[in-house]
Amino acid sequence: MTETNNLSSLANSIQTIASPFRTYLNELHERYRSEMGGEVADYIPELALADPHWFGICVATTDGRVFEVGDCDKLFTIQSISKAFVFGLALEDHGREYVNSKVSVEPTGEAFNAIVLDEETNRPYNPMVNAGAIATADLIKGANGTERLKRVLDMFQRYTGREHTVHMPVFLSEKATGNRNRAIAYLMLNFGMVSDRIEEMLDLYFQQCSILVTARDLAMMAATLANGGVNPVTGKRAIDQRYVQDVISVMLTCGMYDYSGEWIYRVGLPAKSGVGGGITAIAPEKLGIGTFSPPLDAKGNSVRGIQVCQALSQDFGLHLFNAASSDRVLEEWIVGNDAIDGW
Ligand code: GLU
Repeated sequence: MTETNNLSSLANSIQTIASPFRTYLNELHERYRSEMGGEVADYIPELALADPHWFGICVATTDGRVFEVGDCDKLFTIQSISKAFVFGLALEDHGREYVNSKVSVEPTGEAFNAIVLDEETNRPYNPMVNAGAIATADLIKGANGTERLKRVLDMFQRYTGREHTVHMPVFLSEKATGNRNRAIAYLMLNFGMVSDRIEEMLDLYFQQCSILVTARDLAMMAATLANGGVNPVTGKRAIDQRYVQDVISVMLTCGMYDYSGEWIYRVGLPAKSGVGGGITAIAPEKLGIGTFSPPLDAKGNSVRGIQVCQALSQDFGLHLFNAASSDRVLEEWIVGNDAIDGW
């Protein structure tokens, strides 16, 4: 190692130790670690195996710094969080007008698995409810199911910078028990809103929900959208810049199940959650937050995840409509990073 390298790695490690933001995140983790509210999802046996103590918080900034505390390497299924990103891929495949002719962007205030379509147009209400996500999966281009899944996995790799796989037991379980989703797909077929490749579109939907991610992945995905669609660590574009605003907008209005209104009121950040216990939240042009904690509230959102995002938003004035600046200036707190080898 050269002297310059030695000096810069010394400087990096000093920064890592000294970063007040790292200390802040440790305190946040400590504060909510003992919060035991909520229930782990149990609609399929594989999800019920999750340990309620698992808890990770990761923040990735748009200038490529990554801070993490707790279980940020733990793999879990992405579930509904996938919906926002697959919507982005469908937009790239077909453009805004065509996708919007198949899926609306209106919040429902109803449960994510509601069997309901827009009465006038027969469109599912938005890409974040199951109906809309299934119709969106139907739009992903590819010669066959394998190719379509590969395109989805490759897309997630562009967002996170690492390769992804489908958790087979969760996929097979979702497929075996997913008759409500099957009913939704057939209802849409009845109205001519989807193709007749019902099992194939459902397979892709169940597979996308079963993709394994970490809290760090969720932070990178959010940071990529916050950064206009370019992963701030790899420098690679994950989504056409034209569609970044579409994805973020539906996350803002529909991302947190039927808690979306209160979420935007309290936290003020576009976000998406999943029943695997993950939340990805975006502070545009600033940072992405990824949290993982399996116990969910009655609406399906991670209890600790909500608390962490609310605290971060309040403490650093991240709420989108927070005109007055907070006491803490983010730039003064974010010094150094938790450098990860090869990143
Ligand atoms: N795979 C789930 C379903 O379709 C989605 C779960 C979620 O909302 O995260 O029922």
